[in-house]
Amino acid sequence: MAECDHNCSNCSSKCEGAPKYFNLNQFSHIKHIIGVVSGKGGVGKSATTSLLATAFQKNGYKVGILDADITGPSIPKGFGIKDGIKGNENLMFPQLTKLGIKIVSINLLLQHEDDPVLWRGPVVGGAIKQFYEDVLWEDLDYLFIDMPPGTGDVALTIFQSVPLDGVIIISTPQDLVQMIVGKALKMANMMNIPVLGLIENMSYIKCPNCNTIIEPFGPSKLVEIANVFNIKPLIKMPIDPNLTALIDKGCIEDYDTNYLNDLIKLINKDVAHKIKLKKIEVDS
Ligand code: ADP
Repeated sequence: MAECDHNCSNCSSKCEGAPKYFNLNQFSHIKHIIGVVSGKGGVGKSATTSLLATAFQKNGYKVGILDADITGPSIPKGFGIKDGIKGNENLMFPQLTKLGIKIVSINLLLQHEDDPVLWRGPVVGGAIKQFYEDVLWEDLDYLFIDMPPGTGDVALTIFQSVPLDGVIIISTPQDLVQMIVGKALKMANMMNIPVLGLIENMSYIKCPNCNTIIEPFGPSKLVEIANVFNIKPLIKMPIDPNLTALIDKGCIEDYDTNYLNDLIKLINKDVAHKIKLKKIEVDS
């Protein structure tokens, strides 16, 4: 075995100092888990999580989404899912989207989807544990976790207790967000979670009449911020009224996600590379 570098995210040894992850049930197997994070709300983290999941599913992967944004859960709405989660005494069964993505969200357990969730951190942490351990995820290639915005209690619980392969950070081009990206990134670094890269959402809008590109939040900061923090700039996503409309109609899967195909290849390569590194380390 390789000498310990105290980077537990790259190591499968069950030593004393290893993190105590939540235990997946015996009927589920998840190959890769990716957290989608943002420093603040409203930057399109949930929309991006949904688009990534949709793109992966359309490319033949088996995908799930764990909506961990417990106090502002918006994943089911974009997929038009209204039916609650069912289960038996041991397991909860996720809801399936039209394309077959498995979804679990607190909204699917509430009596009314607009009921507020007035829980304190430890209770929310308990819900996340259940969503991870007690859901019949079966075989998934990718589980995306839509993290709560910021660096609070729940984000910390997930970073510590779920074996994430990495996180993707979502930001918009506003200056304020740069500082906030820094917070999300530092948190990931402190917890030894690899950062797969940065997505700039709401980067520009294309005029539907003349195709002129307008940058309502100012020029893109994707490369600049990625360089400052030494992470990969992944993709600029436009503001697209069609996307908003499809989310509002519950039809996000009808959105054309072909422009994300290169990103999918990149994420796959990065995640595979990380697994290879881990294997070399464990074998040596
Ligand atoms: P967050 O999860 O960061 O709080 P959401 O994903 O819920 O943000 O997005 C906030 C709002 O912005 C939603 O109404 C969503 O439909 C809309 N939205 C997000 N990204 C885009 C985009 N690229 N184009 C158009 N609307 C978007």
